[in-house]
Amino acid sequence: MAAPVTITFLGGLGEIGRNCMVFECEDKLLLLDCGLMFPELEMLGIDLVLPDFTWLRENAHRVIGCIATHGHEDHVGGLSYLLRDLSFPVYGSAFTLGLAKNRIEEAGLLAQTQLIPVVDGERRMIGPFDVEFIPVTHSVPHGFATAFHTPQGVILHTGDWKLDLTPVDGRLTDLARMGSIACDEGIRLLLGDSTNADSHGHSRSEKSVGGVLYDLFHEHEGRRIVIACFASHIHRVQQISDAAVSFGRKVATIGMSMKKNVRLAREMGLLTIPESALIDIEKIGDYPDGSVCVISTGSQGEPMSALTRMANRENRWLEIGAGDTVILSSHPIPGNEMSVTKVIDGLVRLGAKVVHSGLEDVHATGHAKQEEIKTLMSVVEPQWFVPVHGEYRHLVHHAELAQIMGVPEERTLICEDGDQLTIDDDGIAITGQVPAGYLYVDGIVGDVGQGVLRDRRVLAEEGVVVVVVTVALDTGTILTGPEVITRGWVYAPEAEELLEECAGVVDDALKVAFKGTTPDLDALQRVVRRAAGKFVADRTKRKPMIVPVVMEA
Ligand SMILES: [Zn+2]
Ligand SMILES: [Zn+2]
Repeated sequence: MAAPVTITFLGGLGEIGRNCMVFECEDKLLLLDCGLMFPELEMLGIDLVLPDFTWLRENAHRVIGCIATHGHEDHVGGLSYLLRDLSFPVYGSAFTLGLAKNRIEEAGLLAQTQLIPVVDGERRMIGPFDVEFIPVTHSVPHGFATAFHTPQGVILHTGDWKLDLTPVDGRLTDLARMGSIACDEGIRLLLGDSTNADSHGHSRSEKSVGGVLYDLFHEHEGRRIVIACFASHIHRVQQISDAAVSFGRKVATIGMSMKKNVRLAREMGLLTIPESALIDIEKIGDYPDGSVCVISTGSQGEPMSALTRMANRENRWLEIGAGDTVILSSHPIPGNEMSVTKVIDGLVRLGAKVVHSGLEDVHATGHAKQEEIKTLMSVVEPQWFVPVHGEYRHLVHHAELAQIMGVPEERTLICEDGDQLTIDDDGIAITGQVPAGYLYVDGIVGDVGQGVLRDRRVLAEEGVVVVVVTVALDTGTILTGPEVITRGWVYAPEAEELLEECAGVVDDALKVAFKGTTPDLDALQRVVRRAAGKFVADRTKRKPMIVPVVMEA
């Protein structure tokens, strides 16, 4: 019997974001990615969402490291939180580690964290794990697929990938290596990126975006051009700056992360912008409109970003007007559509011409679509298949694709967050569950529970009614109040009568409660809540949060 391998999914299966899974062999645990998720609209006041780290904390002594497949926040953004409690080395390409480093540094954990760079094609032992790093093309440079050569055969994790035959940096997804592993050893299990598994066809080459940008620069000659894209999308930044330079424009960056990433990528030789073409955003006013190009953050309409500030006329350096062309070189991530629309509207109101992915092909996805997925499957011919990285419907679509490509139905498993998968001589099966709920972060720490969120939702939708009353328990009398205070139920200055009526109803209810008995404070609170709640519902058909404050004199 060969030693079994277990995989625990802590995030990313059933949602886009907080990707995190754990490989287990000979009692050691090796993480693959530790990402965050950006909150959905109804998660009020939440900054970000993390995987539930309970199980990892309980098994802290067995954790020997984390592989970072690439530098996107949904893959490395959770590290700075987990590393507060656990200490382990992080493996990834130099650029991935460079991106991950920012947040780890901000959290003050850099000194105690070992960052270990690995190169394309490298194969190394991490504890009992024999791991190989295979290049893949994606919307951030130097991403990896990861092959685990285990006692149970090869487990191949695609990472976030696409097939781009003309990538901007020439670094292709190494299908050949995947194929040769498949030939020599066979692929026991494939874990594949499902993001675009429900999209027909083939993703466009990143280079085709460069051509579109070039044409736009031509069309908008004489105007100031501002282009927003993801700060980590170095290949996009490269193509924007290439177009700008070829039209004799100077390039300025705006937004903290854009500045940082451009500096990092230039230092690493991943981004070529001639020194003579770069200007500081503070100097932008010294140049005529037609001779500059500003590369900005905020392509997703993020509230604090440079582009959103421009749309709100709050940007320190740029005032948008009729002489500006603003290009959003991106596609809104599901959930961000409203914010993006608002930003576009604001820019148009200021007189700018706005170009976005709905008008021109100014964006290409970084994730493989169906034909690419089929190509990979035909090369890899996995014995078993588990879709990862996607919402539930993406996972199901991906599983169907695997079956079309010849993986038997009983060997395509749809797993969800929290599932533990055991690979042994007999086969592969879900054998357990660990906690994998959302960890909500508001501010610095993750102490926001479901209860708090439910309260916030009620407060946001219905408001709050506070009823304050002071009583003497021994004599069974009301000393002051009841006073009814509200925010968000009715507008108090215009509804005095209603509030007084409510106070009267509560007063009556308390008097009934005192009759013949000596209730305690808890019982009185319930009386107040019930009386006020019923009154509010009957009179206004609303359900605000009722907060009874009963005090003893
Ligand atoms: Zn990614
Ligand atoms: Zn991702």
